[in-house]
Amino acid sequence: MHELNIAGNIADMVRREMSERGLSQVEAISLRLGRMTDVNPDALSFGFGVITRDTELAGAKLIIEEIPVAAKCHQCEREFDVPEFSFSCPSCGSNAVRLIRGMELEIASLEVVENTSATSL
Ligand SMILES: [Zn+2]
Repeated sequence: MHELNIAGNIADMVRREMSERGLSQVEAISLRLGRMTDVNPDALSFGFGVITRDTELAGAKLIIEEIPVAAKCHQCEREFDVPEFSFSCPSCGSNAVRLIRGMELEIASLEVVENTSATSL
C-alpha cells in the first residue's frame, strides 16, 4: 500500500514545517491532493493515523482537499477539466495538451494548537 509511504513523506514535511516555524504541536494538517496522484484519500488518512500514532503528530487530523484534473491545449490554448482522464481538447480535438492541475501533493496549511494560558498575560 503506497499510501503508507506517502503518509510518511507528509509526516516528514509537517515536521520540517513545524521546526521551521518553531511549533511543538499541530491540531490539523490541510493537504492539497490532485486526482492524478493516484492516492486514495481514505487510505492516506488511515496510513497517516497509523504512522504518527506514537509520535508528536499523534492525533493530528489530516484534512484532504481533492484537486480535480485540468489541462491546457497547446493548439488553441483552451483550458479544460479532465473528468475521465481523457486528454483530448474539447474544442479542437488535439492531444497536444499539458497538465495544469491535478498533480498536487502538498501541505496547504497547519492548524496550530493555541496556548490559552499565554494569552491571559
Ligand atoms: Zn484545443
